[in-house]
Amino acid sequence: MKTCTKCKIQKEKEKFRIKKESKDGLRPWCRECESQYRKDNREKENKRYAEWAKKNHEQVITKSKEYRENNKDKINELHKKWSKENKDRVYEYRKKWRDNNIEKQKAIDKKACESMSDFYISNMIVKYTNLNRTDIPKEIIELKRIQLKITREIRKKNVNK
Ligand SMILES: [Zn+2]
Repeated sequence: MKTCTKCKIQKEKEKFRIKKESKDGLRPWCRECESQYRKDNREKENKRYAEWAKKNHEQVITKSKEYRENNKDKINELHKKWSKENKDRVYEYRKKWRDNNIEKQKAIDKKACESMSDFYISNMIVKYTNLNRTDIPKEIIELKRIQLKITREIRKKNVNK
């Protein structure tokens, strides 16, 4: 019989694995304790890997974010080109999204209308001209914004009368 130095339980010698260079020719821990140790270690190893993967995932995200930040123009250019070549798909996609998000779209429209963003105003110009949104000069957008403000003021006054 031999007492395991780990679990402190006295067990048959067969319960210990052989270690030739030790005094009694056996390992100090019983087989059960050794396999438990290996199992715990594997779990620790798995956990460490999961943490590494998570950290690495964030690193990958950060890197791609950095890339997007540093290549905004290039990406915008590519996106524009793609959109131009796939107008039907873009239109279909937007329409589908609007149909599925009526309330959201209403809120977006309201916000855009209130803020009179460049995007909103250039879209308005596109509606009444055959210009491309990206071809509209900044000054024209400014003028349209002023015109829009005037129109709204007049409308408000008429309503209040
Ligand atoms: Zn043991």
